[in-house]
Amino acid sequence: MLVFLSLGANLGNREQTLQQAIDLLRAEVGTVLRTSSFFYSEPWGFASEHTFCNLCVAIETPLSPLDLLHATQHIEQRLGRTHKSTHRDYQDRTIDIDILLYGNEHIQTPELTIPHPLMNERDFVMTPLNEILNSLNSKLS
Ligand code: ADP
Ligand code: MG
Repeated sequence: MLVFLSLGANLGNREQTLQQAIDLLRAEVGTVLRTSSFFYSEPWGFASEHTFCNLCVAIETPLSPLDLLHATQHIEQRLGRTHKSTHRDYQDRTIDIDILLYGNEHIQTPELTIPHPLMNERDFVMTPLNEILNSLNSKLS
């Protein structure tokens, strides 16, 4: 299945952590088809002095949606994510990996909502996502 993920970091060596996450995704999730440029932005939804670095990746994966979620959560833990956000109580984080799209599927369970509900509101998601979508499309046509 073709899936799109959003990766973000606002603590530590952000670019290095994101690169490590991409390496782990390649090892544990599937074939990384595209990675966007880094996109820098101020924190969204909470106050922090730490600027975010985000990017999107396109991956071809054999994993089911829930297995994909668990694999990305395992990668977050390995890279030092300690807190989980609850009720939109956003915090600084060394790494956050969100599933944006899983093929054309719509999924609504307590653990997983796909497409990611806030993606359309977030420039730090849509700008990198459009970059890799354009790149994939131009290869097809
Ligand atoms: P956030 O990404 O909103 O800052 P977390 O990364 O701590 O918060 O995720 C909180 C919960 O969101 C996770 O435990 C996960 O079950 C749930 N979740 C729902 N939909 C998705 C999705 N599309 N991608 C990733 N996590 C999701
Ligand atoms: Mg998340």
